[in-house]
Amino acid sequence: MDFSEPSEAVQIKKALDDFIEQEVAPLESEHEQFLGADYEKHIVDENHRQVPEYREIVETIRKKSVEAGFYGMTMPEEVGGGDVDILTRAIVGEHMSNRPPGFHSAIFGGAGGPTPILLACDEDQREEYLDPLMDGEITTCFALTEPGHGSDAHHMDSRAEKDGDEWVINGQKVYITNGPYADFAMVFARTSGEDGDLSGITCFLVDADNPGFEIGTIHRAMGMTPGTHAELHFDDCRVPEDQVLGEVDRGFQSAMDWIGGGRINIAAGSVGTAQFLLDMSVEYARNRETFDTPIGHRQGISFQLAELATDIEQVRQLYRYAAWKMDNGERARKEESMAKLRGAKLANDAADIAMQVHGGAGFMKDMPIERNYRSARVFRIFEGTDEIQKRTIARELI
Ligand SMILES: Cc1cc2nc3c(=O)[nH]c(=O)nc-3n(C[C@H](O)[C@H](O)[C@H](O)COP(=O)(O)OP(=O)(O)OC[C@H]3O[C@@H](n4cnc5c(N)ncnc54)[C@H](O)[C@@H]3O)c2cc1C
Repeated sequence: MDFSEPSEAVQIKKALDDFIEQEVAPLESEHEQFLGADYEKHIVDENHRQVPEYREIVETIRKKSVEAGFYGMTMPEEVGGGDVDILTRAIVGEHMSNRPPGFHSAIFGGAGGPTPILLACDEDQREEYLDPLMDGEITTCFALTEPGHGSDAHHMDSRAEKDGDEWVINGQKVYITNGPYADFAMVFARTSGEDGDLSGITCFLVDADNPGFEIGTIHRAMGMTPGTHAELHFDDCRVPEDQVLGEVDRGFQSAMDWIGGGRINIAAGSVGTAQFLLDMSVEYARNRETFDTPIGHRQGISFQLAELATDIEQVRQLYRYAAWKMDNGERARKEESMAKLRGAKLANDAADIAMQVHGGAGFMKDMPIERNYRSARVFRIFEGTDEIQKRTIARELI
């Protein structure tokens, strides 16, 4: 058994550190207002839309990331990607999260960037959507969740009906990451079968300017970069039949095939964030004195840090094991969900412990802890809630 990090991961981490120092850090110093205590006030306008100056920074980093070969790193070589495996991607993700909030999150494009779901593109779709996406010229969004259905997304109310050689989509989506800015959306709608069937759902590629497609309310989300999530409305939205991604009626199952990698990335990101918070807290506990003694010498403090360090190591090994299984073609549903479940808890516990160790200083917005405290909470909700992960683990067991 070899526990060393793959050499490719080590090289990419080093290259990313250099890239961040040369390309991202100068932008961070130049635009401090987007990262300081009042970041939420500066990033969006009165309609909660991100301001052009902020969008330009994200775009600049995206273009530079494409040039440097980081963007689309996890996609296969035949579509211009770096063919990096799930384990390497996750280790790199952990490394990227082990730093204060910054513009580096634009390097991989997040939910708006390249996604293996689009490997189902045919030749024409590849030219129109996947190639420009890989080149950082356009962005996308994944539109599955609806006001009435999240955990049970396959019970969706959105419908698409065939009319001649067009599909007519009606429905509403919510909480869609990058929804306000995506050039096209991957939209899921029922095309046949009964409520709750896994088959009978089709994925459509819908251009942002397609008549019948409107951006609704931009959500105000806790702890996240403001202006990122939106409602999408489809009102007799007609798309030609060649806008179907992959096979008609098979969209949901194909999308679910890729979701495991996302869960592992969340677990890995949680480990990185928790490590960042632990390191900060250890440093603080060494230096902060009360009653003439560093607080780190009190077991009330040091035991909290010991527990956190132990949890970090557990989740680190767990997500790496899940990734290793996936890379080796083994079924890893249980381990992916276990890693996501424990990773989400870890990110929240770490923010809570860091805040406790820092006392009042940790509670104030001058330190990144309070932002982490708020942003960690979503890990227990998106990409499958805690309860849905437990449901998956239990199903695999029983
Ligand atoms: C910041 C953010 C970004 C998001 N980005 C996207 C995106 O880009 N695209 C997209 O499609 N979606 C996105 N989502 C939606 C996300 O995937 C859903 O919010 C999530 O799946 C939960 O669905 P729900 O909110 O409808 O909650 P519900 O499904 O209504 O669940 C409510 C509660 O009931 C629990 N519950 C539900 N079913 C069961 C059960 N069988 N057993 C036990 N408990 C159960 C849940 O765990 C939860 O605690 C995003 C959400 C957030 C918050």
